[in-house]
Amino acid sequence: MAIPADLATRVRDVVGREAYLDSPADTLSYGFNSYPLYTQPAAVVLFQARAQIEQVLPLLYARDVPMVIRGSGTNIAGSALAPPGGVVLSLERMTKVLEVDAVSRYARVEAGANVKAIQELAGQHGLFFPPNPGNVDAITVGGIIGCNSSGDLALGYGATREFILGLDVVTGDGRVLKLGSKVRKDVTGYDLVRLFVGSEGTLGVVVEATLRFIEKPGSDASVIATFRDELGGAELALELLGRRLGPVALEYMDERTTRAVEEAFGLGLSPESRSTLIARFHGPAETANVAAEQCRTIFLAHGAIASEARAGDAAQKLWRARHLAYPALARVCPTLYGEDVVVPPRHFPAAVRRIHELGKAHQVEVALFAHAGDGHLHPVLLTDDSDPAQRARSDRFVEEVILYVLSLGGAITGEHGLGVHKTRYVGHQYGEAERDAMLRIKLALDPKGLFNPMIFPVTGHEPKNPRRRGVEIL
Ligand SMILES: Cc1cc2nc3c(=O)[nH]c(=O)nc-3n(C[C@H](O)[C@H](O)[C@H](O)COP(=O)(O)OP(=O)(O)OC[C@H]3O[C@@H](n4cnc5c(N)ncnc54)[C@H](O)[C@@H]3O)c2cc1C
Repeated sequence: MAIPADLATRVRDVVGREAYLDSPADTLSYGFNSYPLYTQPAAVVLFQARAQIEQVLPLLYARDVPMVIRGSGTNIAGSALAPPGGVVLSLERMTKVLEVDAVSRYARVEAGANVKAIQELAGQHGLFFPPNPGNVDAITVGGIIGCNSSGDLALGYGATREFILGLDVVTGDGRVLKLGSKVRKDVTGYDLVRLFVGSEGTLGVVVEATLRFIEKPGSDASVIATFRDELGGAELALELLGRRLGPVALEYMDERTTRAVEEAFGLGLSPESRSTLIARFHGPAETANVAAEQCRTIFLAHGAIASEARAGDAAQKLWRARHLAYPALARVCPTLYGEDVVVPPRHFPAAVRRIHELGKAHQVEVALFAHAGDGHLHPVLLTDDSDPAQRARSDRFVEEVILYVLSLGGAITGEHGLGVHKTRYVGHQYGEAERDAMLRIKLALDPKGLFNPMIFPVTGHEPKNPRRRGVEIL
């Protein structure tokens, strides 16, 4: 469904001719996320300034055009896919740093700013911005706000929501909500900043964010160890948490992931490795090195094949390999689903075992890596969606994994969000009363349900069968 010609003209008048794309060739790449489904946008608007968003949003909203807000489109659950007949609102050109206050430790930035650039900006001021998803080089501030993203350092520092002081948001009627402030201690009214963080673009467009920086750790050291059996590493992760060395990251990779990462990045891991643990320590001068050495000793005492402390470039190479575990696995199969479930950390080893058992029971190839310290597991389904039998088996597997983690008091998504992938499972975690409360919040801010209508909260627009292989228009 095309955007009416008069409406397209009015949008072009605001953003300029070259910033409004509506030919299939120009819009093609905006139909992809890091999720195995493609949708064809009716148009893409490349905003360059917030004033343009304030003018364009009411035009589209008044004409009932469904919209999706997009940073870099790298999310894994299909959170930024264009709805049928819908427009992609892209913030990729809005990358300005508007203000830095190193004394008060905040920066005000446009929502399209790159997260790695923000980490570097903080570093230039002797400060630190901890949100650190695996693909940090590629993603935007708006994207990590949309998903409340986290990654490895969430164990030590928490997720994105801990580092957002304020937001400017444009709603469908073009009004600007200036939420929060420049200070950490602010309890004025409802915490609408937190409401927007993790709302997956379902409520309005974040145009600007005030980010909280913290002190840069004085020392930084990492430890890697590999083990001869798959569960041994998972059990030791729990043991290490009990030793209270205070790792800021504690990551686990099972045998398949270890192998894929070794093949892709050549870390020099033993061919006997059936699982891998990687821990990271921060602290005042030298204390991280001391903790890393203690950690290494514990790993070796518990049967590690090898354990090595790494810092500087060697540590960077190690973390890059771990961060790119997902693309490393993508090389081995046609369709990849990166699952994202959480259990209380006490149950982490049991969950690793159970998920592998469920994979075998449903004949689904599963690789698993995890933010072990948070009990946060990423079972990755290595499958082929062109085969309906495999699709049906992987659906059953996912549902059973979800029911299992919920039985332990866990959550169906820890950082990827619901997207088109998980919307259908919300009812397993939340009953009607909770979903109804969320829906009422959604409709208070987006009364027509036009922002990201395919996903949570459910407004009746979600696709019937969102999983398809290859290029397909919903
Ligand atoms: C290799 C790889 C590794 C990854 N590792 C991690 C990881 O460790 N931890 C983790 O949490 N995630 C991880 N991810 C997922 C990805 O990093 C996150 O989902 C990230 O937040 C996406 O950022 P983006 O700019 O691409 O956002 P997009 O994918 O464009 O958007 C994400 C969501 O935010 C919304 N949104 C975007 N901008 C705005 C805005 N300005 N206002 C309102 N809503 C907005 C979108 O509508 C969408 O719902 C990984 C992905 C890949 C491919």
